[in-house]
Amino acid sequence: MPLCALCVSVVIFLMLESAMARFRLRCSECAGVFSEDPQLLVCPKCSGHQEQGRSIRGVLEVEILDPPTRWPDDALGSSDFLQRVLPLGDSKFLAPLPVGNTPLLEVSRLRRELGMPRLWLKDDSRNPSGSTKDRASLLVTAKAAEYGFSTIATASTGNAATALAAVCAASGQRAVVLVPAGAPPTKLTQMLAYGAEVAPIEGSYDDAFELCMEACAEFGWYNRNTALNPFTLEGKKTLALEIAHQLSAETPDAVIVPSGDGVILGGVAKGFADLMTWGLIDRMPRLIAVQPEGASNLVSALADGLDDVIPMSGAASVADSLVVEAPRNARLALARIRKSGGGGITVSDDEIIGAIARLARLTGVFAEPAAAASLAGLDAALAAGLIDRDERVVLLVTGTGLKDREAAARSVTMPEAIRPELGHLAERFNMNFRR
Ligand SMILES: [Zn+2]
Repeated sequence: MPLCALCVSVVIFLMLESAMARFRLRCSECAGVFSEDPQLLVCPKCSGHQEQGRSIRGVLEVEILDPPTRWPDDALGSSDFLQRVLPLGDSKFLAPLPVGNTPLLEVSRLRRELGMPRLWLKDDSRNPSGSTKDRASLLVTAKAAEYGFSTIATASTGNAATALAAVCAASGQRAVVLVPAGAPPTKLTQMLAYGAEVAPIEGSYDDAFELCMEACAEFGWYNRNTALNPFTLEGKKTLALEIAHQLSAETPDAVIVPSGDGVILGGVAKGFADLMTWGLIDRMPRLIAVQPEGASNLVSALADGLDDVIPMSGAASVADSLVVEAPRNARLALARIRKSGGGGITVSDDEIIGAIARLARLTGVFAEPAAAASLAGLDAALAAGLIDRDERVVLLVTGTGLKDREAAARSVTMPEAIRPELGHLAERFNMNFRR
């Protein structure tokens, strides 16, 4: 029986749509599948259970429909590999800023000190604004441009706002950022210098997050809030793709991830999971979340066997980037840590401060407190038996120490000034000197 004209049109339309679609979105809770939609940030069904001030319900993950089946011969950035594995309509929407493609360092002196011959450091402090958050901001701003949004807003402890400001400065988009007024002065200065419209909030990051949600709904701004916007996870997955490629497609045994909202961890998990799905690696690394003692509810939830965190009122730490009362990506992060066979570890502020100078002295990498928490967490994970010294381990360093000079200053002792005379210099450095 011949198909009617309407049926033929519908079939052709569906064929065209499926030919054009490069990805779809899948709910991390109910596995519901959705087509791309500029207004769609979370699963409509699961977000019905959303409670204010708690982790995001119905976080969506991107599913690439026609992924590559082999690694490129060249560097990731110089091939079309990333274009194929990211949910981009067109690369013309990407801001002209070199984000990602950061080095994986062999850190020979730190290896010797720790007795870990197969330790690497992923130095993401080398991103344009000095943090991993540039990866998410680059993709989110590209999607905003593709969707026709002129203003992009985010809540942030500091780095995400600075990253959004930097990328928008390069692309010419408008960045509105809400940050706790107590954020490190250098971060505030940096985002202002990039030209972002900054609203310091008299309150916590969690207060800024909720206000940003209201503002985006009211004013029609594109919401970059981490975890809520699925492209934040997707941007950060590039970390995992780079690590696997830099290790010649070998999977590390464990990756140490400083964790606040749990989105970097979720992004790293997503990247390795995608590579598994595409047949480009054959196993997942264990993911080890590191949190400061003063903001540690992801680690507590892991220990207590919970699927979600209990908000930690009054969370505080020198590692400002990790200070979150209710990690917004908690549900997904907890599930991915457990699935990887990994775990969580807490570190004290003193251990974090000590790790800033130690990491800098032994590797040449100057990290902000949240990033130095990686090394403090490695010490703790070794002591707790979560990691063996002969395993292949990657430390993520997620932000530069230049972002928080005040905290870094606590990790060193400033020497007293001397008069410009050789005798005084000899005395200072215990050199023999006779005149
Ligand atoms: Zn759902």
